Amino acid sequence: MSKFWSPFVKNLVPYVPGEQPKMAKLVKLNTNENPYGPSPKALEAMRAELSDNLRLYPDPNSDRLKQAVADYYGVKTSQVFVGNGSDEVLAHAFHGLFQHGKPLLFPDISYSFYPVYCGLYGIPFEAVPLDDQFQIRVEDYARANGGIIFPNPNAPTGCLLALDAIEQILKGSPDTVVVVDEAYIDFGGQTAIGLVDRYPNLLVTQTLSKSRSLAGLRVGLAVGHPDLIEALERIKNSFNSYPIDRMANVGAAVAFEDRAYFEQTCKAVIDSRESLVAELKQRGFEVLPSAANFIFARHPQQDAAVLAARLREQGVIVRHFKQERIAQFLRISIGTPEQNQALLDAL
Ligand SMILES: *Cc1c(COP(=O)(O)O)cnc(C)c1O
Repeated sequence: MSKFWSPFVKNLVPYVPGEQPKMAKLVKLNTNENPYGPSPKALEAMRAELSDNLRLYPDPNSDRLKQAVADYYGVKTSQVFVGNGSDEVLAHAFHGLFQHGKPLLFPDISYSFYPVYCGLYGIPFEAVPLDDQFQIRVEDYARANGGIIFPNPNAPTGCLLALDAIEQILKGSPDTVVVVDEAYIDFGGQTAIGLVDRYPNLLVTQTLSKSRSLAGLRVGLAVGHPDLIEALERIKNSFNSYPIDRMANVGAAVAFEDRAYFEQTCKAVIDSRESLVAELKQRGFEVLPSAANFIFARHPQQDAAVLAARLREQGVIVRHFKQERIAQFLRISIGTPEQNQALLDAL
C-alpha cells in the first residue's frame, strides 16, 4: 500500500489467473487452452501482417473482424463488438450496463472474474446458489436486479443451460441486461446469439481463446442489440481506441473464416472429452456433464488438493479451487489423446 494510490485501490481484490509455468514438458491441463494450434490460415495471415505496416495504427473499428463475425452468425456489424480478450469485453459490459444500484446476479459457482469487476466498478452483487446438482435454477433469477450474468456452459462446472431456460431468464428481467458468457459454447452447446433480435436486453459474449485456440492473441467479442453495442463502443473509445492490434485484427478474422479447421478441432476436443470422461468414471471419479473443453470431477476417496499436488509432482497440472462447495473437485482441461493418457497414467 502507498499514499500515492487512489483510495479505492486499497480494497481491490484482483483476479488470479491459472498458472502459466515456465518449465517445459508439462502436461498443462489447468487453463482450458486448446490443445490444437490455431488455424494455419490465421497464422499465415498474421505472418503476412508482420511487416513494416506495424508502424501504422490498426483499424480502430476492426471492421474486417466485425464483418467476419457478423457473416458467421448472420447478424449486422452494428450488433458486434470486439475487444482485447472477452475479459475486456466483459469489463466494459460491467462498466457500461450493470451500474444501476441494484445487485447484479450471478451463480455462486461461476467465473471468478465477475466479483472482481464488481469490486473494480463498485457494483453490488448477489451470488445465487446453484442447486445441489450444480445446475442454474431459472426461478431464482426472477427478482429485482441490476443485471444478470452467467457463463454458458458454466465454468468451472461445464454444465450447459438450455436455450429455453435462457429465454425464461430474459423474460423474467426485461428491464435489465442479461449477459450470457459463451466462452465454451462451441464445445457442445447452442449459442444464444439467435435470440438477440427478439431480446434487446441480451448480450452474448464469446472469446477466440478457447475454441479458436488464440488465447495468446487476446480477442473476444459481444453480440447484441445495437444500443447495447453502442454503450460498449462509448466505453472502449473513452479507454483505448486501439485494443485490437494489426495481427489480432487479421488473425481473428481469418480464424472465423476458416470454418473447416474450427469444426475439425472442436470435434477432436469433444471426442477426447467423451473418452476421458469414460476412463475417469471407470477409475471411480464422479464427473459433471460437460459441454465445455474441460471437465469438473471428484473422487469420493481422494482429496482433491492432494490429488492436484501429486499430479503436479508427475508433471501434470490441473486446476483446483479452494472454494466452498467445490473444494473436492478438480477442473481438468481436455488435452490431446496423448495428454489425456499422460493424465490417466499419472493417476
Ligand atoms: C476464458 C474465459 C473468459 C476469458 O476469455 P479471454 O477472451 O481469454 O479473456 C471469459 N469467460 C469465461 C467463463 C472464461 O472461461
